[in-house]
Amino acid sequence: MARQKIVIYGDEVLREMCTPVKEITPELKEFIEEMFVTLRRVKGVGLSAPQVGVTERFFILDLEAVELEHDKVVMINPEILSTSGEQCGEEGCLSFPGLFVEVSRANEVVCRYTDLDGKQKVVRAEGLFARAIQHETDHLNGVLFIDHIDPVEREMLSGKLKKIKVS
Ligand SMILES: [Zn+2]
Repeated sequence: MARQKIVIYGDEVLREMCTPVKEITPELKEFIEEMFVTLRRVKGVGLSAPQVGVTERFFILDLEAVELEHDKVVMINPEILSTSGEQCGEEGCLSFPGLFVEVSRANEVVCRYTDLDGKQKVVRAEGLFARAIQHETDHLNGVLFIDHIDPVEREMLSGKLKKIKVS
């Protein structure tokens, strides 16, 4: 399989609404396996399908470095059922190399998803795990982390964003 390329901000694919995964095929499993290789290569925490050019609803998380309880997570057709609390922290995104901004998120989420074996699961997440689920689920709806900061701050970042942007 060819090396997956991470899509950078400016590419239209990052603004698309992704469609549900209908079937977990061997090809999908292989693709997801490859995503973990890609994620590890760039030392990231999360990677969503549109970030590697696929407009379907799934993402992976590799929280090994930051959370002991959950390491490799695959969420297919994730749905955030409820959120509560608030956390504010610095966030980055592989599609925005070198950019880190303070983003306010819910501190806890309850998320329903399908795992790689096709089983429906519900997870209650908090802290960084919850932040990562929200960030990656946003990607599946064409929403990016810079959409969560206020317009004034985004204006301040516009120079940096222009540099990142592919045209
Ligand atoms: Zn991202």
